[in-house]
Amino acid sequence: LPRALSGAQPTADSYHLGNYIGAFMNWVALQDDFEAFYFIPDMHAITVDYDPQLLAERTYVAAAQMLAAGVDPERSALFVQSHVPEHAQLAWILNGVTGFGEASRMTQFKDKSAKAGTEFASVGLFTYPILMAADILIYQADKVPVGEDQRQHVELTRNLAQRFNHRFGETFTVPEAYIVKETAKIYDLQEPTSKMSGSNPVHTGVVDLTDTPKQAAKKIKSAVTDSETEIRYDVQAKPGVSNLLTIYSVLTGRTIDDIVKAYEGKQYGHLKVDLAEIVGELVGTFGARTRELLDDRGELDRILAAGAARAREVAAPTLDLVYERSGFTKPL
Ligand code: ATP
Ligand code: MG
Repeated sequence: LPRALSGAQPTADSYHLGNYIGAFMNWVALQDDFEAFYFIPDMHAITVDYDPQLLAERTYVAAAQMLAAGVDPERSALFVQSHVPEHAQLAWILNGVTGFGEASRMTQFKDKSAKAGTEFASVGLFTYPILMAADILIYQADKVPVGEDQRQHVELTRNLAQRFNHRFGETFTVPEAYIVKETAKIYDLQEPTSKMSGSNPVHTGVVDLTDTPKQAAKKIKSAVTDSETEIRYDVQAKPGVSNLLTIYSVLTGRTIDDIVKAYEGKQYGHLKVDLAEIVGELVGTFGARTRELLDDRGELDRILAAGAARAREVAAPTLDLVYERSGFTKPL
């Protein structure tokens, strides 16, 4: 089977609806046709200011939420990044084939370091995409399911793989981003031209998967729309309504056209009330399942240990090959 690889940072107390739709739904779907590796990038999470105790708890929540979303540990390796040391080892090697200029062009670093302001932008935040390249290449992944915001990083990964292969001989599979156009970007409900983001300090426009049905419903009902009344899909002219239609469509499996027809002549309020119920139900079920999983830490630990063991079976031979190609001698 071809391989798929993806991760989602445990930088907030919970994943949000954008992660669920833009990432997890695809992860789950890909399990049928791919040997999948899904992980919690705790080593990426330390590139911004953070609290170690919180990180540990968030890592468990992240694992439980990935499982609640439908990641099947029988079929896919689910693991924590720091449990597989080969990621960091490969990242160091890739540092040597990454240009300072090309790393400097990464827009996520520019955005995130600008947000950190003059306070503290770490070198880790700068080299983050190189660790991400290692995350992908260490598994010889074919497909990388991500949202639109990660396209540039996957592009860098491809360049690094090709460059390494060219300089040192065929070593890495050159991966492709797997981006589902329709759901690649779920927007903030209060600011529907910006991405729904876990690191946004304000969560009135972000539906967290730990929200109660009531909290989630309220956020949907208060979503910013526009001063017209017609329900129609038009991202440029009507970003708020279009975002709601996208969410409605993916969560129900109905096409946007179908939904638009069903709401002909109706007001935004109708659409919001119905979607609030759909999202409320999702977070209700999802939250209950997550809490159940979190109640048995022993079982979570076992799942993550098995996932890391499976991951290392693939990661270790890749690193061996890379070390050999790099001219490193083998210790006795
Ligand atoms: P941050 O804003 O701090 O970068 P995030 O919310 O983007 O956090 P990530 O860990 O960076 O979370 O992303 C995890 C996965 O979810 C990635 O595949 C990313 O592309 C996807 N994703 C994140 N936000 C959205 C969104 N609003 N719509 C669709 N996909 C998203
Ligand atoms: Mg992100």
